[in-house]
Amino acid sequence: MRKNINYRMIAIALVAILATMAFCIGIFNKLFQKQVMDDLRTTANILTSRETIVHFVEKDYDPKINNLRITVIDADGSVEYDSNADIGNMSNHSDRPEVQEAFEKGRGQAIRKSDTRDMNTFYYAERLESGKVLRVAREAISLYSLLMLILPSLVGVFFCLALISILIARYTTKHLMAPIEEMARDLDHIDTIEPYEELKPLLDKIHSQHQDIIKSAEIRQQFTANVSHELKTPLTAISGYSELIATGIVGKSDTRRFAGEIHKNANRLLTLINDSIRLSEMDVASDAPQMEEVDLAEIIRNCVAMLQIQAEKYEVVLIAADMPGPVIVRANANMMEELIYNLCDNAIRYNHANGYVQAGVTEEKKKIVLTVEDNGIGISREHQERIFERFYRVDKSHSKSTGGTGLGLAIVKHIVEQHGAKIEVESEQGKGTKISVIFPKEKENR
Ligand code: ADP
Repeated sequence: MRKNINYRMIAIALVAILATMAFCIGIFNKLFQKQVMDDLRTTANILTSRETIVHFVEKDYDPKINNLRITVIDADGSVEYDSNADIGNMSNHSDRPEVQEAFEKGRGQAIRKSDTRDMNTFYYAERLESGKVLRVAREAISLYSLLMLILPSLVGVFFCLALISILIARYTTKHLMAPIEEMARDLDHIDTIEPYEELKPLLDKIHSQHQDIIKSAEIRQQFTANVSHELKTPLTAISGYSELIATGIVGKSDTRRFAGEIHKNANRLLTLINDSIRLSEMDVASDAPQMEEVDLAEIIRNCVAMLQIQAEKYEVVLIAADMPGPVIVRANANMMEELIYNLCDNAIRYNHANGYVQAGVTEEKKKIVLTVEDNGIGISREHQERIFERFYRVDKSHSKSTGGTGLGLAIVKHIVEQHGAKIEVESEQGKGTKISVIFPKEKENR
């Protein structure tokens, strides 16, 4: 990763250096050509304005000294004077682009390759009042030879810049990667790393996720340990009672009693295993439960009907509140049944003889509130926070004797969270408990 970033940075820097150099050479060449042309124009202007051509023509002008060739071309294209060549050997010049342009527009210019490869000839032509054309020309270095000339310096500069880029790329990559590598080495101490500003949110996120993972791993480990522990008691009882029966020394009436105990403990085992499986399923399920429109009033009435025998057993009056119409929420029907069943079952089991339990649901403007209320034993304040924890029971023996596993409310809490709802407990020891589940109404229904 570090190498990769490093190489990419260096590659980008080298490309940038090369592109900049090529661009500068191009610009420099253009400026150079413009400068030569400007000089030629100035020279031509001086020659024409002071009418000094005659002077040049008459005197023996030595072009080698000034590197300036002067040509005078007649209106028909024939060469009248040339400072460098014998006009007798010279062809008609009317086909030369700069001469043509000068005849048409008053002035013209052109650059042509010289006979020698490393030079260019620059031509500037201007039409005179007489109708003739004055052309001045000079040789100047070509781009190719310019490049050859400055190549050693260019290569030197390139290597210097490349070296600087490599050093900067190395330093930057190191600076960028150091906190990430440190984090990868030791995820447990991310909080001790001092990252640069831009990396902070990422590190914070990873840190909090890592903490969550550790926490949930701990919870699961604790859960497994608790499940094993809880399984041990009924299994030990089953094993003990069955061993006694197996010895054959137990009387007939005791055999029945022991068989009853085995049956009771086997049921306990089954409920415990079912609840544990249910919770584990919810823990691992990554998909949201399948939601549909469900009538909570209807589910409450069904649960109340289902639990009547249980209520009678505890001598508790279980009723559904008066709910005139359907109360629709988007939820998973099975989970809603499980939730209401668990809350009503608790309200019956943690109650007194002649107590009552009422379950109902009301629809408000922004929310739907499901309540299960009882006048049972109640929960003191210090326990209210913890009753949703797995295997937490206020009175363990009461829970066990009534077939509780300590997992019912943990399942309820899970369901509530998966539905984006909230659960509230109002309770007073000795007076009773009211548990409310609040479903926010979906926006379009408001
Ligand atoms: P359990 O299987 O023990 O009932 P739960 O998770 O359903 O486990 O409940 C956790 C604990 O919360 C119970 O052991 C009980 O002490 C307390 N509790 C739950 N509901 C009520 C209630 N309606 N009235 C009084 N205590 C309750």
